Amino acid sequence: MSPIAAHLDDVLSRITRATAAAGRTAGSVRLLAVSKTFGADAVRDAVAAGQRAFGENYVQEALDKITALSDATVGGEALEWHFIGPLQSNKTRPVAEHFDWVHSVDRLKIAERLSAQRPTHLPALQVCLQINISGEASKSGVTPDEAPAVARAIAALPNLTLRGLMAIPEPEDDPARQREPFRAVRELFDALRADGLALDTLSMGMSGDLEAAVAEGATMVRIGTAIFGARDYGSRA
Ligand SMILES: *Cc1c(COP(=O)(O)O)cnc(C)c1O
Repeated sequence: MSPIAAHLDDVLSRITRATAAAGRTAGSVRLLAVSKTFGADAVRDAVAAGQRAFGENYVQEALDKITALSDATVGGEALEWHFIGPLQSNKTRPVAEHFDWVHSVDRLKIAERLSAQRPTHLPALQVCLQINISGEASKSGVTPDEAPAVARAIAALPNLTLRGLMAIPEPEDDPARQREPFRAVRELFDALRADGLALDTLSMGMSGDLEAAVAEGATMVRIGTAIFGARDYGSRA
């Protein structure tokens, strides 16, 4: 077994344990493997171990990998590519053309561009609205107060499907305190659903806090380091 396959096993066990501990249905949390800064070979090791969905942050690096892995399949299906990084408006076109999901929609203008640029022969682009939960001016995402109006406007765009919310809380070591921001995002998610939006995805939880995110209702966790190892940004092409 490759080291990446062994790490994937460990992460899937963590997800299974956290899902059971929260009294949630087995299989209700999906694993997104965050492969940013790692090459196509690392992705192939994960694919060989059965992983199908991959998260990327940098457009050009991702496009190279998507091309290199266009022949790869899991269970007869092509890989699923999720854009999760900050997205500038001048980079939306290749994302609209080559990704299946975007988790990091942080303003209406980005969503409008993605919808306008999504090729109509492809299925709708699946998107999450990023929530700025720590309330810092420097962080991306809409505030919980802005979220209902922005979510409604995105849900009305033709070539996108708004699936849910995404958040990246500040790193926090204490497991009890890790849950607070996740709980706030889940409460917002519940409120939007109660208000009639058909959302099914809460994208939250990373290598250091996936248990807290699953305890608070995450349906997709985004895991990089625990699968691929520490990232070396210096060597990024
Ligand atoms: C890099 C990244 C991750 C993965 O983080 P790890 O701590 O390595 O698991 C998850 N989400 C986003 C948005 C990221 O940029």
